[in-house]
Amino acid sequence: MSSVKRTILVTGGAGYIGSHAVLALLQAGYEVIILDNLVYGHRDLVEKVLQVELVVGDTSDRPLLDKLFQSYDIAAVMHFSAYAYVGESVTNPAKYYRNNVLGTLTLLEAMLEASVNKFVFSSTCATYGVPETIPIPENHPQDPINPYGATKLMVERILSDFGNAYDFKSVIFRYFNAAGADPSGKLGEDHNPETHLIPLVLQTALGKRKSISVFGTDYPTADGTCIRDYIHVTDLANAHVLGLEYLLTGGKSEVFNLGNGSGFSVKEVIEAAKSITGRDLKVVECDRRPGDPPALIGSSDKARKILNWQPQYSSIEPIINHAWQWHQQRHK
Ligand code: UDP
Repeated sequence: MSSVKRTILVTGGAGYIGSHAVLALLQAGYEVIILDNLVYGHRDLVEKVLQVELVVGDTSDRPLLDKLFQSYDIAAVMHFSAYAYVGESVTNPAKYYRNNVLGTLTLLEAMLEASVNKFVFSSTCATYGVPETIPIPENHPQDPINPYGATKLMVERILSDFGNAYDFKSVIFRYFNAAGADPSGKLGEDHNPETHLIPLVLQTALGKRKSISVFGTDYPTADGTCIRDYIHVTDLANAHVLGLEYLLTGGKSEVFNLGNGSGFSVKEVIEAAKSITGRDLKVVECDRRPGDPPALIGSSDKARKILNWQPQYSSIEPIINHAWQWHQQRHK
């Protein structure tokens, strides 16, 4: 990389994965501008921890985007801003198609107009639907089973068509279960409402919740609970910097899974959290949550090979340990 500082526009940089990516970009020497509507993002993390320029607004605000691209010499866009509650996407799909698809299309059109042609996109393993093979490779059929996954798949198609029609290059990352927190304890996951297993377990350990529910104990897995591929958010963030540098050095459009290639069951996660926090947790066994496949594990060989991505935290312990440091300081 040249020593000239380059400016990256990060949408959703005040959110969970976006904020960690901003930190990784800063550590790699980039300048960052965040565009975030703060519906789910956190102003305090941008102002106190990241200390970069925050533009509050929507990706669907074309005049705002045009002004941004005119005002700054933006080398590439990393796009994290999206609504990501699977259940809400089922009950209110219009909100998801409008924000995740139309908002992204508006952003992409503004990029075309401004001749900014490099794009790193947050996609998801939810685009695969129920897997036919495990670990899931990138060429696995995509058949999402909820509107959230469908919105992400639509954007993937738009990016592919843009790549064919225009001088436009993208790296698409399909995440498995993003988890953990920056090892400094200064950044982490803070969703409201929270629906994800690890933060809910840790909030239970902190006494913020009475119990943790296990959604289904009759799955065809060794202990009957669902298996997921948990990937440390810092490893995800570092992959984004590698994906960006791949594009900036002339790489062609590519799609990469980001996961650990190994899975942990809900019960294993709860046991690990008990041991790391030293607290006993009340566990309540419940019915299955609709739409949960028994096991989701990704193959990330392609990212390792092409991007030379080397995840540092491949076991569940550091993921839970870093998340625990974060939750303790966030909720004190
Ligand atoms: N899960 C659970 N109890 C909870 C939240 C989640 O048993 O309170 C299970 C969920 O059914 C899934 C796994 O934990 O099998 C991971 O769920 P999460 O919502 O964290 O991520 P997802 O896999 O849905 O993206």
